Amino acid sequence: MTANTEHPSLLDLPPLSAEHFAAVEDKVASLLRTRCDVVAMQGEALLPLEACIRAAAPRGSTALNVVTGPYGETFGGWLRSCGAEVVTLTAPFTGAVDADEVARALRAHPETGLVSLVHAEAATGNTNPVAEIGAVVREHGALLMLDAVASVGAEPLLPDAWGVDLCVIGGQKALAGPAGVSAVSVSARAWDRIAANESAPRRSCLSLLDWKERWLDGGRKALPHAPAQLEMLALEAAVDRVLAEGLDSSIARHRAASAATRAGVRELPALDAYVTRDQDAAPAATTLRVPADDLDARAVVAAALTAAPGVPLQAAGGALAAEVLRVNHYGRSADRAVVLDSLGALADGLAALGVPGAASAGDRAREAAGAAWESALRA
Ligand SMILES: *Cc1c(COP(=O)(O)O)cnc(C)c1O
Repeated sequence: MTANTEHPSLLDLPPLSAEHFAAVEDKVASLLRTRCDVVAMQGEALLPLEACIRAAAPRGSTALNVVTGPYGETFGGWLRSCGAEVVTLTAPFTGAVDADEVARALRAHPETGLVSLVHAEAATGNTNPVAEIGAVVREHGALLMLDAVASVGAEPLLPDAWGVDLCVIGGQKALAGPAGVSAVSVSARAWDRIAANESAPRRSCLSLLDWKERWLDGGRKALPHAPAQLEMLALEAAVDRVLAEGLDSSIARHRAASAATRAGVRELPALDAYVTRDQDAAPAATTLRVPADDLDARAVVAAALTAAPGVPLQAAGGALAAEVLRVNHYGRSADRAVVLDSLGALADGLAALGVPGAASAGDRAREAAGAAWESALRA
């Protein structure tokens, strides 16, 4: 037998005990300040997101799907495939949805039983006022499902105080963990409605009810199957690190990264913030529009990465790819030096593409960003 010397922490792991598994769920609950049940489904966040929708959208029911970016569009497809009647409320991707618009949609469709909402979308760079929307949904009586993958650890997230019934988080954004770890909190109200839904998945990887019946109801003494220990250990390590830093300080870093990026970009030619108002900008990522007809966002990203390999820049996906790029200042990249280097790389990239004034704008952008970083931390 060959000794495992190259990946000692990946192989030969003992199984994770039920006690340890429950302790990881409890750490997630404390990160979310929730008293609800937390279920760790040990998959990429799309697993609990789809599980929530299939559990909470009975065939023939009505769901209000709020779309402020591509994830909202994905939810609409799942809701329709559940046989739900889908009411779509679309807000401009450059802003946020307003709680009054949600209230109007619920008045127009009083039979709505589920509202699905994305808190922050890294892809479009916007964030929604969940506290206000949650109050409206609670008053109406529908369940509220929230995709908080891109907000957890980056901005305040209080599912219990805000009336969120199903809150899905993932490890791969502000928590700086790997993709493949996720969790969902489930309110008592949500469990009641899921149990009453005959078409909710049962005996399936997508089943929240299986976790309730085979894990939670038995007092979390025995796991229904062998847990994915790498994922659970990674989730635990990611949550531990954020709790050790202090959740407030993680949130402050992300807020400062957003403010700094937005301030720096004002000094750069050929780029504008894609999200119009500061308060609608997601602390996890800043999206930038490339308004010039003769410039492509993908070319700007490629030139910037040539100037400074490794800065967290990315072209947007799908329909926005030519026009929008992202500064992914989440996790370890919610860092003053990383943000300043990203802005410097954009200036260098624009200069390499021949944009007038770009070469001299880099230093101004870094300076403005640094000042905005400090003033955001003082605020
Ligand atoms: C990043 C993200 C996810 C997770 O999806 P991946 O593309 O697989 O990383 C889910 N929801 C939102 C809103 C996200 O920003």
